Amino acid sequence: MKTIPARNPRTGRIDGEIENWTPAGIGGLANELRRAQTAWQDNGLSCRRGALLDWRDELHRRSEAIAEALTADTGRRQISRLEVQKPINLIDYWLQQAPALLEGEAGRSSMAPSVDWRHVHAPYPLVGVISPWNFPLALASLDAIPALLAGCAVIVKPSEVTSRFVRPLTESVASIPELRAVFRFITGDGSAGAGLVDAVDAVCFTGSVATGRKVAVHAAQKFIPAFLELGGKDPAIVTADADLENAVRAIARSAFGATGQACQSLERAYVAREVYDEFLAALVECARSIRLNDADLDAGEIGPLIFAGQAATIRRHLDDALARGARVHCGGKIENHGGGDWCRPTVVSEVSQDMLIMREETFGPVITVSPFDSASEAVALANESEYGLSAAVFAGSQAEAEAIAARLEVGGVSINDASLTAAVNDVEKNSFRLSGMGGSRMGPSGMSRFLRKRALLHQTAPAASIHGG
Ligand code: NAD
Repeated sequence: MKTIPARNPRTGRIDGEIENWTPAGIGGLANELRRAQTAWQDNGLSCRRGALLDWRDELHRRSEAIAEALTADTGRRQISRLEVQKPINLIDYWLQQAPALLEGEAGRSSMAPSVDWRHVHAPYPLVGVISPWNFPLALASLDAIPALLAGCAVIVKPSEVTSRFVRPLTESVASIPELRAVFRFITGDGSAGAGLVDAVDAVCFTGSVATGRKVAVHAAQKFIPAFLELGGKDPAIVTADADLENAVRAIARSAFGATGQACQSLERAYVAREVYDEFLAALVECARSIRLNDADLDAGEIGPLIFAGQAATIRRHLDDALARGARVHCGGKIENHGGGDWCRPTVVSEVSQDMLIMREETFGPVITVSPFDSASEAVALANESEYGLSAAVFAGSQAEAEAIAARLEVGGVSINDASLTAAVNDVEKNSFRLSGMGGSRMGPSGMSRFLRKRALLHQTAPAASIHGG
């Protein structure tokens, strides 16, 4: 068995190892799950519902063990405890939605009025879910749970950076034989990810644009659908009439929460010149009040940088910005505490749109603040990006906010708050530009994207003759 070292983000030390699954091993597992998937599909929703409810109970029962493994993976405990609630909430949500979504529709064709039709759903037999290190369990659950309820078998491969939680998760499924037959977690690096793409009928990928491109090409060669949820460089727009206190509160939570390691973390703020100084001062004050939880896992607001490579990216962006005249008001350094990499909330001003910190995803607790003179200028600056994940607008009225939001080239806009897409998983949204591709994983399409429609077409009149009539 080949293994990969596991690094502890709080100490920087290698204190474990994970198995690196081989393509042959993944292929064998895929065959096993495919065989079991037929019964999973044929036994119907009530059987799948029973298995998912049993799993929900197991997740409750084992929540502390799973949260502790996630804490070891990510170096943060509070968020890890919340993360265990995500699959539980998603099971509840999808169990409510599934009956209507799985109901095959029927009707009469308007183009051939003697033909009655009925849809029979054909789920993709085996779905692969590849997830990143920032929310290892939550992001895998967003895809895996609706796929399972749709009738698919599912193999999840989390990031090699955060795979300790796989053990308690696997244990939570082990006592439910019908679920274990169709739902497995594997571990490994990019080679295991590629092996998984080779073995499945559809792939859900969450991660960076660079890897997303590789997965898209690979899936195209395999002729399977790829649902891609990739990076972002989310902007916030704050107009002169906005409630500034509310804007600062929301923007700070979004930019610095989870140490900025969320795809929908705000990384750029554009603020009306009239209120720019006041906003900047308040945001810096708020940023300075945020504490690291380096000394005590249960105290402070933000944890370490999970992935060592991310510290290098943050440093590169800050160095580039400083060399080109930007001003750092607080934070701004990678600090070593107890062997781990930490970054205090960082506010940067006097930036230009061509700096790395404005163009590339930083994925740390870092936000830039720039002034604008008109709503059109704000929209143009916000849209000057290769990404199109989400955005936030703070304005004096709903009409003003919506007029701005409607012109932003992104798939989700939080109004008078930020990063609402992290909590609102029941509303469809697409990722624009390089931020993703494929049907929404939120809302009804989160399940229906796994269901191919087979149309049964009943001719109720005599079949047409080749001779006409
Ligand atoms: P990453 O792209 O480095 O890795 C993601 C996953 O892909 C890992 O499991 C990795 O092992 C696997 N992988 C690597 N090479 C592969 C290959 N050739 N084929 C198949 N799989 C392969 O991403 P990361 O650094 O783990 O995560 C951070 C990124 O994820 C950020 O860009 C962030 O914005 C993005 N993200 C997006 C969303 C979203 O919903 N849009 C949510 C969270 C994170």
